[in-house]
Amino acid sequence: MHATLDLSTHAHLPVTLHDSGISIGQTTYTHGTVRINESAAIAVSQLINGWQMCALRMPLAGLVFQVSKELTSLGHFFPLIHTLNHAQRTEFRTRLNTLLQTPDIAITYTAQTGLTATPLIVRVMVLGQIVSCFWGRPEIVSALQRTKPSVALYANRQLYERAGGVGGGCYLPHEHHIMLEVNRLFEGFYTPTPNVSPFLHEFGHLLDGTHMRLNQLPHCVGRLPLMHDQDLRLWQKAKYREVQCYTAWYHQRPPSDGQMPLGHPYVFQNDGEFLAGHWEMFWRNPHAMAQQTPHLFNAFMFYVNQDPRTSLTHDYMGYVEGNRAFYQSGQQPWPTEMRYDTASD
Ligand SMILES: [Zn+2]
Repeated sequence: MHATLDLSTHAHLPVTLHDSGISIGQTTYTHGTVRINESAAIAVSQLINGWQMCALRMPLAGLVFQVSKELTSLGHFFPLIHTLNHAQRTEFRTRLNTLLQTPDIAITYTAQTGLTATPLIVRVMVLGQIVSCFWGRPEIVSALQRTKPSVALYANRQLYERAGGVGGGCYLPHEHHIMLEVNRLFEGFYTPTPNVSPFLHEFGHLLDGTHMRLNQLPHCVGRLPLMHDQDLRLWQKAKYREVQCYTAWYHQRPPSDGQMPLGHPYVFQNDGEFLAGHWEMFWRNPHAMAQQTPHLFNAFMFYVNQDPRTSLTHDYMGYVEGNRAFYQSGQQPWPTEMRYDTASD
């Protein structure tokens, strides 16, 4: 079939190659073009060639980037890009290229045949996320580079587990190392609005580990690196409020105004999960966070010096709704082992 597709409406559709052509969503194409923006398009034949060099299941936007290197296609993964003007896009590209060229943040890929060159789109899914989160605080990216973190990606579950990976993804604080199955990098992008992001979650843990390293602490304490005094004050206040609210629910005495925690009991287990879980939600449901827990939202917004609501028009509501359902169900919340920044001053 002949394609005349527009990336802006088809970015999230899964692509796979067959003998008969390339499937984009439910349809198989043999020729035609995908329009990327006003000035760029890519031929289906180029996508087919590109797939042969990087045979990973991913949304169309990923394959289009892998082949065309057009920054617009990354807007599906990093919505900030849609809001940047021409000069800012050039700056985004420069920062991304700088990270791609330095060995400071090592990204490895293990396939069935062993360690393999990491495909460009896979490296960009990690490094572009870092550039995007710290667009307003580039000095934090430099600090991150100095701590030499690493990310190991695995082609499948078996390889991940054989290397010692546990759960849905993990961060090893003493190795300063994230482990993840490669398909989890793309998992939350098969819908027009980004949903779950295992990488953002593990990146939250890695930021905690970065703070630990920069301050030579013996273990993680659930804080972000390079917090200004005001950032820290806002964070402590916000965390205190959330923990108070959670504790009230835990003791079956919900606040009289009905306020419930934004996060699942999972994120109240300890200081690290509190940071990582809310960090992911800040980027995925900023509107709901700003509305339900403005103290937490402001703490993150001032820290990153960026308001994700300006680039993300719609929240992913899966976490927010699931967590609300949990508290409304009357189930017993889990015990917490949080210890840091939980007392009032
Ligand atoms: Zn976690």
